[in-house]
Amino acid sequence: MMGSSMLHEKVTTGMNFFWHSLNCRRFTGLSAHVACRRFCTSQHKKMSRHTPAKRIEGLDKNVWVAFTSVAADPSVVNLSQGFPDIPPPSYIKEALAKAASVDLLNQYTRGFGHPSLVKALSQVYGKVCGREIDPFKEVLVTVGGYGSLFSTIQALVEVGDEVIIIEPFFDCYTTMVRMAGAKPVLIPLKPKSGKTTTSSADWHLDPDELASKFNSKTKAIIINTPNNPLGKIFTRDELQMIADLCVQHDTLCFSDEVYEWLIYKGHEHVKIATLPGMWDRTITIGSAGKTFSVTGWKLGWSVGPEHLVKHLQTVMQNTLYTCPTPLQEAVAQGFILNHKLMGQPECYFSSLAEELEPKRDRLAAILQEAGMAPIIPQGGYFMLVDVTPLNQDLSHMDDDGEAYDYKFIKWMIKEKKLAAIPVTAFVGDESKKQFEKYIRLCFIKKDSTLEAAGKILKNWNKI
Ligand code: PMP
Ligand code: GLN
Repeated sequence: MMGSSMLHEKVTTGMNFFWHSLNCRRFTGLSAHVACRRFCTSQHKKMSRHTPAKRIEGLDKNVWVAFTSVAADPSVVNLSQGFPDIPPPSYIKEALAKAASVDLLNQYTRGFGHPSLVKALSQVYGKVCGREIDPFKEVLVTVGGYGSLFSTIQALVEVGDEVIIIEPFFDCYTTMVRMAGAKPVLIPLKPKSGKTTTSSADWHLDPDELASKFNSKTKAIIINTPNNPLGKIFTRDELQMIADLCVQHDTLCFSDEVYEWLIYKGHEHVKIATLPGMWDRTITIGSAGKTFSVTGWKLGWSVGPEHLVKHLQTVMQNTLYTCPTPLQEAVAQGFILNHKLMGQPECYFSSLAEELEPKRDRLAAILQEAGMAPIIPQGGYFMLVDVTPLNQDLSHMDDDGEAYDYKFIKWMIKEKKLAAIPVTAFVGDESKKQFEKYIRLCFIKKDSTLEAAGKILKNWNKI
């Protein structure tokens, strides 16, 4: 007859062991093991039902979740998450108050975008793209640039597909592609000379390396211009090279242009959708948060050909259905006003970049005074800087496998009361060594905020 402990072993394997050893003593006699086995198996099944879906496995770490709450401490100078501490234009806030005062505008609106907003978007993008854009068939309004990226990727990327992503990239590209069951294929931007660079313009894609990433599984390439975090604006020639590959391999292009208006002097923003053969294969993504300095409003849009946008609309109608009406109405009013002002200095599309350029230069000067070499961005509102010259020894910190930049920023927030974002959050594992000495600083901030950061950096070795 099988001894009780042997029987125990037979029935207690893997996950069941925990439940079995805990509960077996509840039952007596030989039948106890049978009863217990049934009990344990049911507990095990229950546990497996609590495990997450495969599609989100390994995606539990997030740089924004990790850093935004610590950086929100009022004693910390916060140059981390990208949001303005300068006020949004007053007319946009007034437009929201006005919209909320109209009863009907507090109710649901059209699912794919409030009519006044999609019409305004089609006018502005129609003008920029030099083509008629159908507001109802070629535009989808969603929850932020995030929602636009999500609906695009969910709608168009199939399990097993490959999607090419350029490093450094806005972090959610790879995770959204994985959630769709597809494989991110990474390609890094590299500094021209391989040495220290002074401008985001010095960073390039290797054309042969890019060409080698395209194959029969490639569904799309995601581009981001101006780029977050580097600030690079892709030139017309660079975009043409990408476009040629897309046409040659019949792939789609998801073009994240949320910083499209933040273009500094001497640079030009080109929409890849306007290059020959690209409209029909491109989804362009925009954000009200970036366009009107209202990141908390979380409205975004995707613009593209009807045959693609209709699939994004399918995702929208089965997930969120619609976005807040008063916010959409207020953003529509912002677009209507600035559409009329386009080409004039008062237009917010250009005036915000004019306001930010001296802030960019101020932050660069502060960093240079502190002995560091910032990479001057051509667009957007972030600046990368190599912190090697600060020579900060972090060997006393736990070595739990974290990259240097993560440790550096945790230490800097605690000891120096200055917050930034680690740049390895924007690259894949293979590029972490190349980027771990860089941090990202946000400069859409009041001059007093930038000065406070400068004070910390100048007194680095004194405090
Ligand atoms: N893309 C990029 C490049 C971003 O920096 C962000 C952050 N704003 C988004 C998309 C998401 O935009 P939103 O805040 O409108 O969701
Ligand atoms: N786009 C902003 C940044 O890069 C905000 C990101 C976020 O809120 N997740 O900082």
